[in-house]
Amino acid sequence: MNKNSSNIMALAPNTPNKRETVCIFGTGDFGRALGHQMIQSGYPVVYGSRSTQISNLIPKDAEVLSHAEAAQKAAIIIIAIQRQHYNFLTPLAEILRGKVLVDISNNLKLNQYPESNAEYLAQLLPGSKVVKAFNTVSAWALQSGTLDASRQVFVCGDDVEAKQMVMNIVRALGLTPLDKGSLLAAQEIENFPLQLFPMWKFPIFLSLGLTTFFFLYCLALDVIYTYIYEKNNFSFFIAITIPNRVCPVMALILLALVYLPGIFAAIIQLYRGTKYRRFPDWLDKWMLCRKQLGLIALAFASLHVVFTLVAPLRAFVRWRIGKGIVSQALNNKTEPLDSTTAWISDSYLALGILGFFLFVLLGITSLPSVSNNVNWREFRFVQSKLGYLSLILCTAHTLVYGGKWFLSPSAYRWYLPNIYMLSLVVPCAVLVVKFVLIFPCVDKPLTQIRQGWERNPKYSE
Ligand code: NAP
Repeated sequence: MNKNSSNIMALAPNTPNKRETVCIFGTGDFGRALGHQMIQSGYPVVYGSRSTQISNLIPKDAEVLSHAEAAQKAAIIIIAIQRQHYNFLTPLAEILRGKVLVDISNNLKLNQYPESNAEYLAQLLPGSKVVKAFNTVSAWALQSGTLDASRQVFVCGDDVEAKQMVMNIVRALGLTPLDKGSLLAAQEIENFPLQLFPMWKFPIFLSLGLTTFFFLYCLALDVIYTYIYEKNNFSFFIAITIPNRVCPVMALILLALVYLPGIFAAIIQLYRGTKYRRFPDWLDKWMLCRKQLGLIALAFASLHVVFTLVAPLRAFVRWRIGKGIVSQALNNKTEPLDSTTAWISDSYLALGILGFFLFVLLGITSLPSVSNNVNWREFRFVQSKLGYLSLILCTAHTLVYGGKWFLSPSAYRWYLPNIYMLSLVVPCAVLVVKFVLIFPCVDKPLTQIRQGWERNPKYSE
């Protein structure tokens, strides 16, 4: 045998890469799903259960023993049991001493107990090393393998070695562990699966509030006013006309509200002369939900596009066009093409199409699968530069369409301005202040502040 071949022999493993036995307490949905995945990843699994009878639901190749017997076979024990039954573990304290206990439990309500389930387990069994993990993964996703959206597994615990052991299992299952620190983080991790769209609450409530306001505003001016003063029954406006007024208005205002907190932040930083002081809470929260505001704005803009495209199908629109043709025929006179009106109509349509195109581009780049593939500068370019361009185009679209109403007395029914005028207030304010902020005399100090310069440094050298 030559020298090289002996080296190859030396490198070849004598034994297969054997993994340590893992014990799972509880043969319920999660225990079975996790056990199944673990066996597939090469871990010998032993269940600790109240009943040692093997049912056909339990993964094949797994052993089922009493809790005490199963615990003795492994250094890591996953507690796949609801918190309210943890008391049964107290008599096992001696057997569980020094072992790693993985708490995977969740609660039914936010902050249901004064301490987290993992801390409670650690209090019950002070001799064991408790690690919190897996609670954000569902049994169904584990079983079906549809974990694409939630590969992250939050892990926390006071014993670094125990945490590493659990993180190794997480990795072996094809998931990504995310170390959240000590067991103090368990409460937060347990609250994650109970949160209901936390970032969406403010944008959704704001949108619902504004939509209701604008809907009622249009109802009053377009339906009730015309019924009272012009004796016209336009109640059918509720179905398409009013939604098609409210949607673009909402889209424009919400898009402006995406950029307004950035303007406030810049003004605050300029005023304070430093970036090292926290923004007020409301501004922080507002900044954090800009993506959600933008996506809701995009949804309104898309609805506006659909409502506009169905316009030719509407009986009211067909009747109005027909009436115009008949009146021309009766008068034996063809109305000349008004090129100003043609220009205005083509311009606002073109501005709207371009604005909507950029709006869609903004929405696409906010998707994690896309944003993960662009670098920070590219992301900022799209979200900031193209975002502002979209806001300019959409504001211009509304101005060109609704601008004629500013000077028309008929637009002020009950002395109230038309909805298009209201929709322009926030976007115009944002654009005007942004225009001021990009002036070199303002932009230069702001850039310096954002790079760390302070007008009155707290710690001077
Ligand atoms: P489950 O289907 O109700 O199973 C719980 C298991 O606990 C039972 O099968 C039983 O196992 C054991 N058990 C029940 N009463 C007991 C008692 N008095 N004393 C000792 N053991 C008892 O619940 P699960 O859905 O698997 O959830 C288990 C844990 O995982 C919970 O803490 C849950 O919050 C957490 N979790 C679940 C999911 C999920 O998608 N299901 C996701 C994340 C986290 P034996 O009959 O074998 O003793």
